[in-house]
Amino acid sequence: MKCILIDKPEGHYQSHLTEVDEASLPSGNVTVQVHYSTLNYKDALAITGQGPVVRSFPMVPGIDLAGRVIESSHPAYRPDDLVLLNGWGVGEKHWGALAETCRLDGDWLIPLPSRLTARDAMAIGTAGYTAMLCIMALEKAGARPEQGPVLVTGASGGVGSFAVALLARKGFEVVASTGKLDERDYLKALGAREVIDRAELSQPGKPLARERWAAAVDTVGSHTLVNVCAAMRYGGLVAACGMAQGLDFPASVAPFILRGVHLIGVDSVMCPRDTRVRAWERLAAEVDGPLLETIAREITLAEVIETAGDIMAGRLRGRVRVKIA
Ligand code: NDP
Repeated sequence: MKCILIDKPEGHYQSHLTEVDEASLPSGNVTVQVHYSTLNYKDALAITGQGPVVRSFPMVPGIDLAGRVIESSHPAYRPDDLVLLNGWGVGEKHWGALAETCRLDGDWLIPLPSRLTARDAMAIGTAGYTAMLCIMALEKAGARPEQGPVLVTGASGGVGSFAVALLARKGFEVVASTGKLDERDYLKALGAREVIDRAELSQPGKPLARERWAAAVDTVGSHTLVNVCAAMRYGGLVAACGMAQGLDFPASVAPFILRGVHLIGVDSVMCPRDTRVRAWERLAAEVDGPLLETIAREITLAEVIETAGDIMAGRLRGRVRVKIA
């Protein structure tokens, strides 16, 4: 089978497109023919070696797949079933989806929602699913459109683009923070009411700032998340899922103890199955073809390594879907 393989011979990190014997696939009770995968920030970290994503070598990256079951000894799946996978350490410690074939634990799979094609599902991928998890977390904590503006950071990225579009479709007034001000029209087309320069948020700031946001989705971390928390309105809700600026959080407790700000962590990788299924059901109901075409571009397996470099250099907007078969 054709796949991207990451290896570290004599300590020298390398990723390449290659052919691997299917006998080398890891153990698992379901074998899937991958139709589409995606390229996320995490995959780009893994492929370029710029972040400690890969836990063992050699590794096939790829945290997302949509495809067709070839073989299964799992009670829930039979050959020809269409399935979806996001996370569970696939592409990090278990061979992943940037490959023609993937062998997995069937407990990690969910059926592809009937309203989505494999191609649509991978335009959404982990980014869209994580954006939905953030929105579900904010709603569960009580966020409502009439409370005031919602900030989305890293707005032109995969998670950010979906967060902007899905929040706007629910009637929220969305303010998009971006380093790509030339993507203003794209962000407005997704539904952003206002676009701000991320430079306003990325430097060390004060523990408390003018109260601006009722809620926020942060994909950036570091000083940006600190400044987001500092500018929340009283009782404001922040869903934090990313670290594009950094994993650090050099914050003061002031927003939490003086303004009752809630900081809610969002994880897609180990997220329980029933929450995943609900998130994907909502995605299937709330996205449409034109939105997916606006957000996603499509590449082949042969273009993955170069595109991973573009992601790390911050040159791309939206999502990257990878056509496998
Ligand atoms: P993308 O690369 O598509 O988007 C990241 C965006 O962050 C960029 O487009 C850019 O947006 C902004 N950005 C990049 N570098 C910086 C920087 N130095 N300072 C400030 N902003 C920056 O990534 P994804 O959308 O796929 O993922 C976003 C983040 O969320 C990543 O950190 C990823 O690891 C994390 N993530 C976490 C998940 C979880 O389960 N918790 C699941 C999925 C993703 P702009 O130019 O518009 O400012």
